[in-house]
Amino acid sequence: MNIMTKFIFVTGGVSSSLGKGIVAASLGKLLQSRGFSVSILKLDPYINVDPGTLNPYEHGECYVTEDGTETDLDLGHYERFLNITTSQANNVTTGRIYQTVINKERAGDYLGKTVQVVPHITDEIKRKIMSLANGEYDIVLVEIGGTVGDIESLPYIEAMRQMRWELGRENCITIHLTLIPYLKAAGELKTKPTQHSVKELLSSGIQPDILVCRTEHELSTELRRKLALFCNLDFGSVVEARDADSIYVVPLLMLKEKLDATVLAKLRLLERHEPKLDKWKAFLGLLKNPVHEIKIGLVGKYIELQDAYKSIHEAFVHAGVANECKVSIQYIHSSHINASNVAETFKDLSGVIVAPGFGERGIEGKIISIQYLREQNIPFLGICLGMQCAVVEFAQNVLGMKGAASTEMSPNTEFPVIDMMAEQKNIQEKGGTMRLGAYPCELKKDSRVKLIYGKKTISERHRHRFEFNNKYLSQFEDAGMKAAGVNPDTKLVEIVEIPSHRWFVGVQFHPEYKSRVEEPHPLFVDFVKACLSFNQELRGKKK
Ligand code: GLN
Repeated sequence: MNIMTKFIFVTGGVSSSLGKGIVAASLGKLLQSRGFSVSILKLDPYINVDPGTLNPYEHGECYVTEDGTETDLDLGHYERFLNITTSQANNVTTGRIYQTVINKERAGDYLGKTVQVVPHITDEIKRKIMSLANGEYDIVLVEIGGTVGDIESLPYIEAMRQMRWELGRENCITIHLTLIPYLKAAGELKTKPTQHSVKELLSSGIQPDILVCRTEHELSTELRRKLALFCNLDFGSVVEARDADSIYVVPLLMLKEKLDATVLAKLRLLERHEPKLDKWKAFLGLLKNPVHEIKIGLVGKYIELQDAYKSIHEAFVHAGVANECKVSIQYIHSSHINASNVAETFKDLSGVIVAPGFGERGIEGKIISIQYLREQNIPFLGICLGMQCAVVEFAQNVLGMKGAASTEMSPNTEFPVIDMMAEQKNIQEKGGTMRLGAYPCELKKDSRVKLIYGKKTISERHRHRFEFNNKYLSQFEDAGMKAAGVNPDTKLVEIVEIPSHRWFVGVQFHPEYKSRVEEPHPLFVDFVKACLSFNQELRGKKK
């Protein structure tokens, strides 16, 4: 039976990038493993309606949910940790809140009132949060983006204050994640920034219930006491979060610190049972003790910021574990690849993935990479733009279509083998207008992917405007590149493969969004397996 939904807010102090998303997801995991149903919500303070129009350099990867919402990458962590499926309800942005309020004002809903941040914006924020208290969840975690003290996150902080007052402290608590910096010259951990950040929260009317302290070094009893004293907390409510070598270790670190038990006590929830984490621990065991090791290349154009390919990175961690193999990803800038350095660049790699992306920059390097991988029989996985480049490369170099291209890069090409979807042609607005979210795909009988997925119909998430041009399909198939997966309703080609190649698969969708710790994605698992056996074969030859 469900209890009344309880809320846990997670705020950040002192610095950004402390891993609020990971701490929230880890706590969610622990509570879930104790038998509570948990959902998790991210409040983003920026004014963009969603991150779909943001350059990955700004906020990292744009994560896409089943229902086709372009969201913050933390939702990816929530899905991967908690094995849940998120939707638009799990991500709120200031842009979306304001848009809703302004639409209501235009519709006359406020009956002549002056529309203000308090109460109208804060009410709308609370309404979004409370929409998850629908009887489905015992506990909802709410992560507030940004750092306490930011102008932008003030309405969220105020909404939290009001909710704590309205629901009562036993139903709504705040965890403040903060940094305890280590001053090398003094050889000491410093608590002052945290004291200030708690003061900042207090000035907004919020006494945090628990402090989670990111630190490079052990937080001594003495320091914990000091933090407790200065921040009005009991000793047990000061929790250490030591730097970890893998994000997947964090739930166990939090368990050791009894964060879950402290939270349950504060929320006056009876413990149901000890955390059941057998699968998680088995995963960690394999992660820490791999039998094999391989290097896989990722050719993309946002490689300076690894968050730009977050889900792909994590999908390889999961798939590596499934193969008892440590996968190191070598990030390669597509515009640094040319015909004379490609062999040298790929010489230590057991396989290469060509990443998703938009626009012209670095396309040539992607096509040169794919030609090399295809001709040298090296495992290749192309995702979205990566798949489109594989089609273009095949058209240019196998079908002899000189100048073949995607109309995204060359609108006037003679051979538009990748072209804009008909329904996209009249769309002017950029935000939220791509082909987004889950679509079904039927796999062809004798294809490699059918074997990999082990079923006929799959569902995967999309985010693109351009498509394989079916006008050329028979030419591709006759020359050896097959449409292995097709949308049953629209007949759009979703997967291409070259059966004569060791492992050559291009997918129009994003499999990485669906890979989870406890459910690694079959396509990544099989790709790593192929890379592993290619690596063993190569090493055998070198001996
Ligand atoms: N730019 C391509 C398109 O819009 C591919 C998008 C992607 O890789 N996500 O179709």
